[in-house]
Amino acid sequence: MEKILNYINGVLQEPSSKQYIDNYEPATGKVYSLVPDSDGQDVQLAVDAARGAFAEWSKTGLEERMMVMMKIADGIQSRFHEFVKAESKDNGKTIHLAAAMDIPRAISNFRFYASALQHFSSESHQTPGTAINYTLRQPVGIVGCISPWNLPLYLFSWKIAPALATGNCVVAKPSEITPYTAYLLSQVCIEAGLPKGVLNIVHGLGGKAGQAIIEHPEIKAISFTGGTETGKRIAATAAPMFKKLSLELGGKNPTLVFADCDFEETVAQTVRASFTNQGEICLCGSRVFVERSIYEKFKASFVARVKAMKVGDPNDSTTNLGAIVSKQHHEKVLGYIELARQEGGTILTGGNALKMDGRCSDGYFIAPTVIEGLDYNCRTQQEEIFGPVATLTPFDTEEEALTMANSVKYGLASSIWTNDLKRAHRVAEKIESGIVWINCWLLRDLRTPFGGVKASGVGREGGFEAMKFFTEAKNICIKS
Ligand code: NAD
Repeated sequence: MEKILNYINGVLQEPSSKQYIDNYEPATGKVYSLVPDSDGQDVQLAVDAARGAFAEWSKTGLEERMMVMMKIADGIQSRFHEFVKAESKDNGKTIHLAAAMDIPRAISNFRFYASALQHFSSESHQTPGTAINYTLRQPVGIVGCISPWNLPLYLFSWKIAPALATGNCVVAKPSEITPYTAYLLSQVCIEAGLPKGVLNIVHGLGGKAGQAIIEHPEIKAISFTGGTETGKRIAATAAPMFKKLSLELGGKNPTLVFADCDFEETVAQTVRASFTNQGEICLCGSRVFVERSIYEKFKASFVARVKAMKVGDPNDSTTNLGAIVSKQHHEKVLGYIELARQEGGTILTGGNALKMDGRCSDGYFIAPTVIEGLDYNCRTQQEEIFGPVATLTPFDTEEEALTMANSVKYGLASSIWTNDLKRAHRVAEKIESGIVWINCWLLRDLRTPFGGVKASGVGREGGFEAMKFFTEAKNICIKS
């Protein structure tokens, strides 16, 4: 059985404990590799390596830093199909999606921040005749980056790239459920000549390796993406240590469909928003609110499209939805479908696990599920399911749509579908989310601020926001 290795001080190595965790392929339900069960000892080795590398890396010329990051991007590009296959196998997502979204985006993350570091600048403030102040933006030092399983390399690199670009040394941990592409990345970093200790990847469980990163006193900033409950625990540990914290957490995102939308495009895109990556994207629009005058027509068209989606082997190019990431998550999603039934919901399509033939007969599949007839305040409509489950709810007025949209504890993303420009602006302003898409979904520009409000997180990633997070602003005042 293949063993994934930690990447510490430029070397691929076993965990100190020599213990490993099983790594499953969700489409087959079979263990196919072993993940290091790292602990505080490995994190300490990573911190020692990062400390050793920091003095040089933080002073490395911008062009040199850019070149090595570009080489990492090129390294992923040159092994593109290997990365795509690995991401699909590890997560259960379709090969097609990994090739169209995950791996291209990981490459873009490195390229984007490699070029951004040449343009990142700081402010100066002049008081004529009195003084000039200028701001230095200095790297924080050793930073921790912890990412989830749903977009494994995409989100891992979204943190690592700005941290490296700004001159920090990194101790990073991918999800123990989807570690494989982070392992491939460590190989690419070695090939690209990233100086040893600049990036260290420690694999393992959240409560053990992850917690050791959070608790380590020399790790000065934590960039975390994951669940809201984990975010709370991380904040409770890190806040009293005065660490900088960026928390990208859960979502329960509303989709608001008004009667004047472009109907066919809206149905197509809202189905995509609900079910891409088996609904396992923090930005997925899982609560679809539809103006009553078009509700029945929309429902018929939405459900027809969902019924036409093919669930199956992620390797098959005709598959639309692959496997759910783990047995445990599969059970959680099915549990929510059962809850929806108990709460009086009507299942319009799906609502069950699916059994495949052949190599996927023990995989974790769920039919894409659409539910109506639920009160917007019930648990199914309030809690994050993070699976292929969407609810449809009619509304009569804009105010009612906003009340229902804003009723959840989360506030990550939303989408609004209308041709009334004034309404689009008005609703966008009032909706409680960090990201609003109008007549589109997941249309990304890497320069924009990314993040949520309420229980969806603290801080923003993206563009210069992430570079500000990974630097300390120091003001220097010179008397005229
Ligand atoms: P999770 O919180 O269980 O785990 C995320 C990461 O944190 C993993 O690497 C895990 O090992 C680690 N971890 C767990 N406990 C830890 C601890 N005590 N200390 C340090 N690290 C710890 O989340 P998940 O199940 O992997 O991912 C799904 C969640 O992520 C969903 O809630 C989803 O909405 C959220 N998410 C948010 C965004 C965003 O940008 N806001 C993006 C993707 C996913």
